[in-house]
Amino acid sequence: MHRHPPVSESAPAAVVVEDLHKRFGELEVLKGVSLTAREGDVITLIGSSGSGKSTLLRCINMLEIPDDGRVVIGGEAISLKKTRGGASVPADARQVERMRTRLGMVFQSFNLWTHMTILQNVIEAPVHVLGVPKAEAVDRARMLLDKVGILAKADSYPVQLSGGQQQRAAIARALAMQPKVMLFDEPTSALDPELVGEVLRVIRQLADEGNTMILVTHEMGFAREVASKVVFLHQGRIEEEGSPDKVLTNPDSDRVRQFLSRHL
Ligand code: ADP
Ligand code: MG
Repeated sequence: MHRHPPVSESAPAAVVVEDLHKRFGELEVLKGVSLTAREGDVITLIGSSGSGKSTLLRCINMLEIPDDGRVVIGGEAISLKKTRGGASVPADARQVERMRTRLGMVFQSFNLWTHMTILQNVIEAPVHVLGVPKAEAVDRARMLLDKVGILAKADSYPVQLSGGQQQRAAIARALAMQPKVMLFDEPTSALDPELVGEVLRVIRQLADEGNTMILVTHEMGFAREVASKVVFLHQGRIEEEGSPDKVLTNPDSDRVRQFLSRHL
């Protein structure tokens, strides 16, 4: 069966998360999470609903600001400071903006701009954030739409596409920024079952091409095939991590075993 090759321990780190803590009021959602994604790693993040998977991804790209700990993207630590009230905030908003352009995020709910065509969705950020000349952005967008199999929909609006096509458009839009790392948060959870495969095929192709990715998914078969490493989160802590064959076949943790018995 197809497997992702293990990534060398000497490959450069693309994303490092160190002792990350995040609370929402009284609720401590991340209780000291540390994780390294090396270049070429495909990390699948699994765990029960509410275990903190989305919050972890959102802290990596600073959609949520961690209360404690560090996030390092491509060797550069995102600097945070405390307000007088004790809240954690970015010390340099422009650094966060710059970091975000290195991370492509794909959400469960596509999040395409409904008033723009698919092509306009894909060129928007390259043109307006990166300053790519429009003609060049259009060429590249068409290449990406072709890659994800929806070039024929370039001039359609999101509402005219199926969920699977919209999600593939969202992936093309993320890729248009040429991110160093792709973050996927349950990219197929909102899809009708018959549309899941076409989106997983695109993600698998990106994995095969050596893209670095962190992927939250409940598709365990897919997680096993595509992952270089599987990380199981339980109540804001990493319960177990390792190769897919270890964690998904013969885990040390009873919690992981129970989770798998419910999801395989
Ligand atoms: P998962 O993605 O693993 O299902 P989440 O990271 O979405 O888990 O959520 C973890 C916990 O944090 C849940 O109990 C959720 O209700 C809570 N939570 C997430 N985001 C917020 C928020 N913005 N405000 C308050 N609570 C939140
Ligand atoms: Mg989630």
